[in-house]
Amino acid sequence: MSVLLEVDRLTKVYSLGNFLSRLKIVAVDNVSFSVKPAEVFTLAGESGCGKTTTARLILGFEYPTSGVIRYRGKEVEGLQGKKWWFKEVQAVFQNPFETFNPLKKVESYFFATVYNYDLADSKRAERFIDEKLQAVGLSLQEIWGKRPGELSGGQLQRASIARALLTNPSLLIADEPVSMVDASLRMSIVNLLRKLCDTFGLSVIYITHDLATAYYISNRVAIMFRGTVVEMGPAEILVHPKHPYTKLLLQSILMPKPKEEKEEKRVSVFEEEEEYLQKGCKFVLRCPEAMEVCEREAPCDLFEGETMVKCHLYR
Ligand code: SF4
Repeated sequence: MSVLLEVDRLTKVYSLGNFLSRLKIVAVDNVSFSVKPAEVFTLAGESGCGKTTTARLILGFEYPTSGVIRYRGKEVEGLQGKKWWFKEVQAVFQNPFETFNPLKKVESYFFATVYNYDLADSKRAERFIDEKLQAVGLSLQEIWGKRPGELSGGQLQRASIARALLTNPSLLIADEPVSMVDASLRMSIVNLLRKLCDTFGLSVIYITHDLATAYYISNRVAIMFRGTVVEMGPAEILVHPKHPYTKLLLQSILMPKPKEEKEEKRVSVFEEEEEYLQKGCKFVLRCPEAMEVCEREAPCDLFEGETMVKCHLYR
């Protein structure tokens, strides 16, 4: 099987306001990509670009306005609440302290999952849980009797990854899993995701705004801007970017600058725009390489080998 998950022209539109004045927000706009077995596929971009909404749509937390998601070739609509789906697809979120109830002992979550999903009988449960915890560098003994507040952020995030591994999933969706973890521990969690992929053949959708870790662990990367994938391909697109937005994102994080100059650069990439032109390229108001055609015509997906770029410069 060459494709595990396929996202096909996925769109999510939110309507706000009443019938007199209705505002439509396109959070995810015609997004397509696929995830292969045993690869780390990254969705990257600044806050509000639609990457988390895309993950929520895959997980079934929200319904798409249009588009199709297929898992192992099957449409997933209606499957996302089923046990089968829960066993196959697991998620890890940004803040591990929100994943666990502060009053409950951490191991209770592990035993509940094991018994609810018949993963092991009571004789084997402890050893089964310990194996999963060992896979993330913890042990059942280390977490036994502890409440979430008694573990460090890094330990708790590892525990939430171990809990996700209990069902032997094929796909793990990791939504900003290191952004709330101490900088010194970030790489250990990122390395762990890569190791799980290499050792257990787990596919990972890694959602991040951090292009350095994205480059470090990903097989392939998709860059999102305003709900759209503007560039996608092997992780090397982060070294040799084509899309002007990817280039600006990389310049803003990688080029060492004096503080004031750096702030100025960030403003040019991240500042809030008033409006953007609906019919042209979404990036036209910020793009240093914009042409006249960019204002009137939306660029289509242009492919070169495994790389896709949505930009008139490459027509
Ligand atoms: Fe810039 Fe035009 Fe390419 Fe959009 S299509 S990124 S405005 S050059």
